[in-house]
Amino acid sequence: MMDKRTHLFDVDGVIVPDRWFIAINDYLDSIGKPTYNSRDEFKTFYLGSEAFPDEKERNAFFDHFAKYNFYDGLKPIDGAVDGLRELSERDNVYLATSCYVMEGRRDFLNEYEQKVGWVMDNLPFIPSKNVIAISPKHLLRGDSITDDSMKNLNGDIQTKLLFTDWHNKGISKAELDAGGIVRANHWGDVMEQLK
Ligand SMILES: [Mg+2]
Repeated sequence: MMDKRTHLFDVDGVIVPDRWFIAINDYLDSIGKPTYNSRDEFKTFYLGSEAFPDEKERNAFFDHFAKYNFYDGLKPIDGAVDGLRELSERDNVYLATSCYVMEGRRDFLNEYEQKVGWVMDNLPFIPSKNVIAISPKHLLRGDSITDDSMKNLNGDIQTKLLFTDWHNKGISKAELDAGGIVRANHWGDVMEQLK
């Protein structure tokens, strides 16, 4: 029998859609301001800074963000649950996810708890102990890593997949090739690369 491989997956932008967009609209709605129609209206990855360039208003938004669990009711990205279930039956699956949105703020320390809760509800076949809170992902070892951020795909791992999301569509094939990275446009591509 072949040895089991180890696959690492980011959570936000790979398994669930990014929560910031939902949170921003929720906050705008709560203060009676018009909401955004689509993520495509944003130009950068840092939606909070872009939506609220004024520091005072941005801090008010962050206070709002910290009060709620925006993973509650969040729907998985198409194909993620079936793909992860299939891989879990065959190989080792770990979720490697940054859990520190705001350095130094204690009211943001519940992010790990919120994520593991979502995994318990939606991916019950993944043990909670396989959910790793980590930001410097280049420290990780394994056979594959799938992430929607290029900055997390610079470690010493053989198979590196960039999961397509609104903010990384402009990254060229040449840039990907230079980093030994393959683009996965959807979970079908992920499963094909990891078969
Ligand atoms: Mg991500």
